[in-house]
Amino acid sequence: IGSPRRVLVTGGAGFIGSNFVHHWCNAYPDERVVVLDALTYAGNRENLASLEDKPTFRFVKGDICDRPLIEKLLQEEEINTVAHFAAESHVDRSILGPGAFIQTNVVGSFTLLDAFRQHWNSQGCPADYRFLHVSTDEVYGSLSSDDPAFRETTPYAPNSPYSASKAGSDHLARAYYHTYNLPTIITNCSNNYGPYHYPEKLIPLMCINILLGKPLPVYGDGQNIRDWLYVLDHCRALDTVIHRGKPGETYNIGGNNEVKNIDLVKMLCRIMDELAPHLPVKPSEQLITFVKDRPGHDRRYAIDATKIKTELGWAPLVTVEEGLRQTVGWFLTHRSWWEPLLSEEYQSYYRKVYAS
Ligand code: NAD
Repeated sequence: IGSPRRVLVTGGAGFIGSNFVHHWCNAYPDERVVVLDALTYAGNRENLASLEDKPTFRFVKGDICDRPLIEKLLQEEEINTVAHFAAESHVDRSILGPGAFIQTNVVGSFTLLDAFRQHWNSQGCPADYRFLHVSTDEVYGSLSSDDPAFRETTPYAPNSPYSASKAGSDHLARAYYHTYNLPTIITNCSNNYGPYHYPEKLIPLMCINILLGKPLPVYGDGQNIRDWLYVLDHCRALDTVIHRGKPGETYNIGGNNEVKNIDLVKMLCRIMDELAPHLPVKPSEQLITFVKDRPGHDRRYAIDATKIKTELGWAPLVTVEEGLRQTVGWFLTHRSWWEPLLSEEYQSYYRKVYAS
């Protein structure tokens, strides 16, 4: 495994970042972890509350576009590993206002990459340094039902401002390896779900609306297909990539679980009906409501994760049924986590997206 890692986790107060920080602190309790997060609407320091007293852990509120701050952190913490999660991450919000996506996802990623280059420039890059750029399968665009799943060699064809901004940052990470030998590794992952998932995303949205007896808005005909991965499986994959991945490479990460949106919502309804002691409307499937489709809605994503399996030995451990049961259980027992997030700002966003 090599020398201890001193990890800068950007976006570590968000959904996947905070799960990753918990995973890392459990797996490597003596290693230094510094979280840099701007605490946008999607960032929540509560997600890391149980780690705040650990001497190896540090939280810094700040923006990945703030170059002097990043240089200072890299230097004073002697960071040898960057795990870069920070992003504007929600497709619907990128349709309403793309500017923040370009700023954080493109300019912010550039700022981090370039600061990391300066960080080791004078002595050359030590062999164990790593820059993990966490990205999405959405950069590959949309598949029709009989297309083969996305491979690492699939050409990029992003369709939303979100995926286009992530594609831009992937290209920068790639270019920094080829141009400056910066030890970047890119991962492109399918849809995650699990604890600490912000309410606007499909699975938490459905869980919460079932608990509140509110309509379950399903876009279009509900036939869009996504591949789903339990967030802790993703975190194990990223751990594997940091320790055993090859700089300059891309790894696709997926759950091998293609599910139609409507079937996923029905599964959630069934599990919620079974696990929740009291529901305002039962069976909760009655709440399903089809709404006007999202503009440019990609039809199908599917990931071919053969490379990470054969080269690095990673495979998902959690089935969709198991993962959804865990997730439903978490939302049932963490009402005090999600209730305050349904703020006035959130409600006004919600009305804009599901206006039809
Ligand atoms: P999230 O929206 O839950 O969290 C993003 C975090 O980044 C938040 O804590 C936010 O405060 C922080 N942030 C935003 N702008 C920042 C800035 N300028 N400076 C510092 N911090 C900033 O997102 P997520 O779902 O956890 O996704 C994390 C990463 O994984 C993203 O890069 C996303 O593209 C990628 N990804 C997500 C999924 C998914 O299903 N959620 C799948 C594949 C890849």
